[in-house]
Amino acid sequence: MPPPPKNRGHAPANAGQGRPPPQQPGRRMASRDAGERAAFFARREAATVLRRVLRGDASKRAGGSIKSLVYSPSVRNKRATFALVCQTLKYLTILKEVFASTGVLSSKWKKQEELVYVTAYDILFGQEIAVSGPVEQFIMLHKDAFRTALEKMCAKRKVNTVEDLLSKKSTVKPKPRFLRVNTLKTTSGSVIEVLKKTHKVVKDDIVPDMLVLPPGTDLHKHPLVTDGKVFLQGKASCMVAVALCPKPGWKVIDACAAPGNKTVHLAALMNGEGSIIACELNKERAKTLQHTVRKSGANNIETVNGDFLEIDSNDPSYAEVRAILLDPSCSGSGISTERLDHLLPSHSRDDQDDAGSTARIRKLSAFQRKVLSHALSFPSVERLVYSTCSIHQAENEDVVNSVLPLATSLGFELATPFPQWRRRGLPVFDGSEHLLRTDPEDDLEGFFIALFVRKAAADDTSELAKDGGTLGVKRKRACTARNHGLRAFSSLRLSRMDALCSIWRL
Ligand code: SAM
Repeated sequence: MPPPPKNRGHAPANAGQGRPPPQQPGRRMASRDAGERAAFFARREAATVLRRVLRGDASKRAGGSIKSLVYSPSVRNKRATFALVCQTLKYLTILKEVFASTGVLSSKWKKQEELVYVTAYDILFGQEIAVSGPVEQFIMLHKDAFRTALEKMCAKRKVNTVEDLLSKKSTVKPKPRFLRVNTLKTTSGSVIEVLKKTHKVVKDDIVPDMLVLPPGTDLHKHPLVTDGKVFLQGKASCMVAVALCPKPGWKVIDACAAPGNKTVHLAALMNGEGSIIACELNKERAKTLQHTVRKSGANNIETVNGDFLEIDSNDPSYAEVRAILLDPSCSGSGISTERLDHLLPSHSRDDQDDAGSTARIRKLSAFQRKVLSHALSFPSVERLVYSTCSIHQAENEDVVNSVLPLATSLGFELATPFPQWRRRGLPVFDGSEHLLRTDPEDDLEGFFIALFVRKAAADDTSELAKDGGTLGVKRKRACTARNHGLRAFSSLRLSRMDALCSIWRL
């Protein structure tokens, strides 16, 4: 039979704890016990995460990405759990086939099938630490039958090793690790000083206070991360708040805010001055949002657990809102690789174009249109960013195009965030060249950004930016009360604004 791979290219269940050194028998026994205990608990933590991931995937509802579930505070051994979940998912189709052909998965074991799969993966392909748990004993009992089934699978498909049976989709191009420095707590210079002692670190060429480290750099437990001095946030995700470019002192709404990465980025761009209303519909996610806000140290963010669509745009409390960041629920198709969605069963069925998927996107797109129209209705909004992490035209260009008549009637026009960025919107309507797309392959994540600017505000901003080249249409500056308000900022604030706005014309 072809030898099953052992410990190839992944951390075993007791990763991060080291192999016990060969010492006196007593200590060796204690170390082995510790290793077995670690493997035992890691399998159970991994099974819990796997169950949530698979249920979310089966129902096509956001059950949370593998990473977000693993990095939740309840998971203790994050590294081992993450490795086990990913590896089990990678081998899941094979494992299911093995269990189907051996017929040993009785209803008793089916009730805890995620733990069965994790343990089977770990014993058959990972580390062969059995541990005296009932599931471990069950797998050990049938190990020879599983090996025979694997042998038959390989022979049937005319391959030499079990790894040859794995889907090609399970390999992913390595990506650099991006960090956003939280300027509310520290500076890029200080972070670079710390990180350069142990890592190769460079500044990003487009997004301010964004640092780039080599692929595979794991900083989840680094004090800079746990203290909220840096956020592990992708580059494209960071371009969203920068595109909105809120000024210190403004009143801003983050309409669909959790987990809050963009909310706290806005706070940093505003230097903690002014106010941000961060709205989140989902109760659990609203708690995560509050956690992110606390971690950032921002004290100008009010979190609201509620429906943005129910906020009355004519309510006097929102009369001074000048910018809205709208990053609503979307298919997440642009970050599916980052989320490791290619490991999920729905991807192996290759159902991206099936009827269920199309209906889901249609539903999301209708919601996105509704929520964007609502955001446009706030009377004093000067700048509005609509963003998604989707690659689908239906959630991006089509949504923007459908609200353009309304936007135009309210005095908005499309502006061009990051004009130096070459990948723009799909050419499906006049003006789509103002839109910005990032590509999941080339740019690491698939994001979409549309920037709406109210004409009078556009004139004002063009004066601030001194070149006006960022806007869809150049106009003579109108002298409105709002413009006077903007000019009343201190020169320090203006220089920060210039610095931020100059990003658009890089
Ligand atoms: N901007 C966030 C960030 O970067 O951390 C990610 C936002 S996520 C794509 C969309 C969020 O919108 C989800 O947490 C979802 O629960 C929330 N949401 C969906 N519908 C909403 C509504 N009607 N009002 C407020 N929040 C909503």
